[in-house]
Amino acid sequence: MTKTLKRPRDDFSKATIGVLSRRAGFRCSLPFCRKLTVGPGAKPDASFSRGTAAHIISASPDSGPRADPTATREQRVSIDNGIWCCADHGRIIDADDNRYTVIQLQDWKGDHEESILLEAGGCVFGRGAISSVTLSNLGRFIAPQTINFGSRTVLLGNNQTGKRLICDMIASVANFNKITEWHAKRSNKGSSRVRIEAFTGKKIRWDVSMSDDLICVADGNPVPVVYSGFRVFHLSKEFSGMSVRRSDFGAGNMDDLAEDAAWEAVDNKQFIDDLALFSGLPRDGLLTALKVLSLTPGRFFTELKMDGEKLLWRVNDSAGFYKFSQLGEGEKQMVILDVFIRLSEFSAMFAPTILILNQHAFPTLDSINLPRVIARLGELELSSQIIVALYYWTSITPDLAWRYWHLDNHKSDRGPVEIKPWVPPPTASTPAALASAPSVAG
Ligand SMILES: [Zn+2]
Repeated sequence: MTKTLKRPRDDFSKATIGVLSRRAGFRCSLPFCRKLTVGPGAKPDASFSRGTAAHIISASPDSGPRADPTATREQRVSIDNGIWCCADHGRIIDADDNRYTVIQLQDWKGDHEESILLEAGGCVFGRGAISSVTLSNLGRFIAPQTINFGSRTVLLGNNQTGKRLICDMIASVANFNKITEWHAKRSNKGSSRVRIEAFTGKKIRWDVSMSDDLICVADGNPVPVVYSGFRVFHLSKEFSGMSVRRSDFGAGNMDDLAEDAAWEAVDNKQFIDDLALFSGLPRDGLLTALKVLSLTPGRFFTELKMDGEKLLWRVNDSAGFYKFSQLGEGEKQMVILDVFIRLSEFSAMFAPTILILNQHAFPTLDSINLPRVIARLGELELSSQIIVALYYWTSITPDLAWRYWHLDNHKSDRGPVEIKPWVPPPTASTPAALASAPSVAG
């Protein structure tokens, strides 16, 4: 009787284990665990490390969970075959053959590394973010096109290149009915499709297709079109926070105090109504939120004081506080941005939150203030995911954690649009220009 010699285990090298653990952010890769595997030790100069590099296919060719006798030694010791885990899960994975499959472990590892990438880019884990949107047969996107999002993303394109459609599709995670509106407007009578991939601790994929009916599938399971848990603050073209005109009140005689007062009261009320509409809050809820904003420091060169329902603002360290109607156009934009940024910040403490800023909502941001706004958005440590749609480019420091997409319509005015990654040209003069940017033009 011949005895088959058992081939030895193929263990990972120290270097492989090191890279694997860092790629996992030293957290267990299992989506329901995510335990940190390193931390402070009992003594002030000690640390603990309780992670392990578990094998996806067994370290031994002939035995152990998910053993694959056809795999080579190189495949078994390759980093692709490892998954970083806490000690408990490492033990289960390396001992229990039936609990997890190879595919399952590979999926978890991929999702986990993606989440670490988002987290490292500033998206707080547990809240989540959209990682990609794929559009087909919607607006001018006929063939399927995919855009990947980071924690900060710029969509750059001329008018009519689909910025608004993309923003609406991102916003659709909070209200899938947005998709129906665009489907009705499609040029081609075929069905439209939107795939949204998001991450909220685990990867979720929504596939929405429309022919006659809108069908929504989440991770392969048909689901009713309902809220996803995401909150979206979408400052779009329709925002009219600055639309009330002094000339609509009487003769527009600047010396008429009664006319001024009437205008200011309507302007203040209109502004509150617009903020409520665009933040998705009931008016009373918004007023409560504004009250909190008035008690906390502004994030965007502004400060708010409330006198009943009357809002008073200080912008760029101006001497006093002014009514909204008294602010210059650029100052009004800073105020609106500040409100939306701070509301999204509060929201992101409790739910995955996306802030979408369409440049159309800020028509007076010039080539000095636009980079200043973008730079500030990059500087702020916000937990919300931010997407900015711009129709013109200007010198912006490319060192921030922004991801850029260019919406290019090279064929004709009405032809299909292509989405391409875009690298902003380095601009030596930009940092100095930013540092010396004058206060917002009135
Ligand atoms: Zn674990």
